This record gives sequence, structure tokens and C-alpha cells, in this order.
Amino acid sequence: MTQELAPEPAELAPPVPRRAPGTGLRSRPELRIAGRDTAVDLAAAERAAADFLAALGVDADRAGLRETPARMARAYAELFDAQPLQLTTFPNDEGYGELVLARAIPFRTVCEHHLLPFSGVAHVGYLPGERILGLSKLARLVEHFAARPQTQERLTKQVADCLAERLHPPGTGVVLEAEHSCMTVRGVRALGSTTVTSAFTGTLSTDAGARAEFLALAGLTG
Ligand code: ZN
Repeated sequence: MTQELAPEPAELAPPVPRRAPGTGLRSRPELRIAGRDTAVDLAAAERAAADFLAALGVDADRAGLRETPARMARAYAELFDAQPLQLTTFPNDEGYGELVLARAIPFRTVCEHHLLPFSGVAHVGYLPGERILGLSKLARLVEHFAARPQTQERLTKQVADCLAERLHPPGTGVVLEAEHSCMTVRGVRALGSTTVTSAFTGTLSTDAGARAEFLALAGLTG
């Protein structure tokens, strides 16, 4: 399996310039987020994984562990496999002006401090402007930015900022709730604890009422 690593941070294609109302709204702007063309060297990763296990005193010659370095290499290649992303948008013909929110999008990623997984749900929304986004793209955005070593704070902000920069909506909001295995299976072993992060732009950042509505629709209040 050949995998390609995504850049860290992602290299974004140049943002689409804002269009004046009524000009070119029917065209389909190119909202493409690039992956990166750095090839993954699975053989080198496998050798390094074998060295890593040996250095930790793990007997990798034991029958059950013989394939483990190769599996480790493939597992991390899969976790870091950010694909290029095409953000399909449509003209907001109905003039829909209320919040669009995708709630509880499951995600998993790897913390960049320990290279241990953290996972949870993302609530991603925006107030529509001239264009609206294909609904599945909200989940794809999370998936794209999660496919690399991450911090929860950065992942939250990257999704919100990307939406803001590419779609130019009046406001965006992202809330992530996640359980970090580096906190639950080691260190403080805070089993069951979750970490919540949020990022808001535009109206959702400045208007407390709009933000409260976002949090209520996401099921995060009351
Ligand atoms: Zn960690």
C-alpha cells in the first residue's frame, strides 16, 4: 500500500477571490485543498519500528510480533494519509440565512506529543452567505485536517479557518469533544475525561446570541 503524507500544516490552494453579488455566482469556484506529494517510505518506517521495539526491550522475534513493525508502519501511514479535498459549493438560491450545522461528526487523529490516538466528535457549522457547501464536505474537512499528527486546538482552528477562508460565510463555528489516550491510558489515567475546544469566526465570534444558538443546536447547552 503506497501512501502519501499530507503537509504539516496543509498547503492550501490560493483562496478564491470574493465575487461581487450577481457576478459569476453560477460558476463553480475551485475550492481545492491540496495533499502533499511526499512519498511514504514504508520499508524505512518498518525498520525504524523494529528498532524502536528493540530499544524498548520488546522481543519482536516472538511469533506474534514478527509482523508488528510492518503493521505499525502501515497503521501510522494510514493515520497520516490526508487526501486532497475538493470543496463543492452551490449558490445559496433560497437565500437561506440560518445556521447550517453538522453535529457529532466522529473523528480520530493522533496527538503530536505522544503519537497516541485521540478521538471524539466534531460539531461544524456556518452561517450561509452567497454560497453553501455540500453537506458531506463538513465531515470531509474534519477528516482531512485530522489525518496528520495534531493538537486538538489546532485541528479545531484549522477547520474553522478553512471554512471561513474558502466559503466566506458570515460566520463559522467548530466545537470538538475528544478523549485523548495519552491522558486516559498513561500519565494521569483520567479515564472518561474529555477535552472540549472551540473556534468561532465572524458573526459567530462577535454575536453571543448566534454563538448560543450554535451551542444549543449542537446539543452542548441546557
Ligand atoms: Zn498526547
